[in-house]
Amino acid sequence: MIDFKEIDQNGEEWELFCRDFLEYLGYYIESTVDRGPDGKKDLIVSEHLKGNLGNYKFKWLVSCKHFANRANSNSVKESDEPNILERVESFNCDGYIGFYSTVASSGLNTRLTQLKENEKIKDFRIFDYKLIENYLIRIGYSDLLMRYFPISYKQIKPLHLVTNKYIPLECKTCGIDILEEMYNNQYHANFVQIFSYANDNKTEHIHDVYWACKGRCDDIINYNLPKGKYTNWQDIGDIIIPTKYIEWILATINYIKSGRNTYEEEAFKKEKAFIVAVSQKVVREMTQEEKDRIGTLKEYGL
Ligand SMILES: [Zn+2]
Repeated sequence: MIDFKEIDQNGEEWELFCRDFLEYLGYYIESTVDRGPDGKKDLIVSEHLKGNLGNYKFKWLVSCKHFANRANSNSVKESDEPNILERVESFNCDGYIGFYSTVASSGLNTRLTQLKENEKIKDFRIFDYKLIENYLIRIGYSDLLMRYFPISYKQIKPLHLVTNKYIPLECKTCGIDILEEMYNNQYHANFVQIFSYANDNKTEHIHDVYWACKGRCDDIINYNLPKGKYTNWQDIGDIIIPTKYIEWILATINYIKSGRNTYEEEAFKKEKAFIVAVSQKVVREMTQEEKDRIGTLKEYGL
C-alpha cells in the first residue's frame, strides 16, 4: 500500500521520518547520536512506563535502516547491525528499537531475542514496513503520510478527523467499521433508507436509515422488513467519491425541500450522523492554521 521507496535512500529523510513517527507515537526524542564511520545516526528516545514502583523512564536506542530501494535481499541482517549491545550500553539505554523500511532478518531477530533472554538488554522492538504502514493508514497519522509519502497518500485516501475523535461507521449487523474495511474493498457496504409510501404515493416517509455490508449483513435486515416498508440504497463506495458525495447531499436536500421525502426524527438524526462519519473519508487534511482558526466540528445538531 505504501511505497517506502518514495523516501530517498541517501540523505537523512528516513531518520527524520523515524523521529517524527516515534514522536507521534508518544516517545520523547532525547537526542541524535553519530553511529560511526557510515555517517548515519542513531536516535535516543524515551518513554514513561508504569512499573511496580510507579512510573519510570525507559530509554531506547533507535537504529534507522532504509533498505527499501535495494534491488534484492533487502532485509536488515545481523551484519547490518554490528555492536548492538555496545551501542545500547554506551548511551545508557535500556532497550533497542529497529526502525526499518523492510524487515529484520531472522538472524537479527534471533540475536535480539538472545540479548533479551540473557538480560543484556531489557527489551527490543522492531518497527518493520508492515507495522509502520499499519500505523500510517490509521486515523491521526495522515499528515505524516502526506508529508513523507505524498504519492502513496493520494492512493490511500486516508481518513481525516472532522471532530476531535474518530467516528467509526459500524455495520448494523456485524459491527465492523465500514470505513476501515474500505481499504480492502471500497464497494462492500450500502447506505439504506427504510421508507413507506404516503397516501399520495409520491411522498416517501423515511422511518429509519442504516448502513451495512452488502450480502448477508444487509439481507438479514431486508428479509425482515415489515409489510409496506421498502428500501432505497446507495453504495457507500460511491458516496465517498467527492463529486458523488456532493451530488448525493444536494439530492437529499432537494428531496426534503420538494416534500418528496419526509423523515422520522430519529432517522433524520442518523442520516446526519452518517454524513459526518462518511465525510472523514471525503474531506482533506486541515492545515494547523485552519484547525486553529475553525477548530473541529463540535456541534452538528445531532
Ligand atoms: Zn457487516
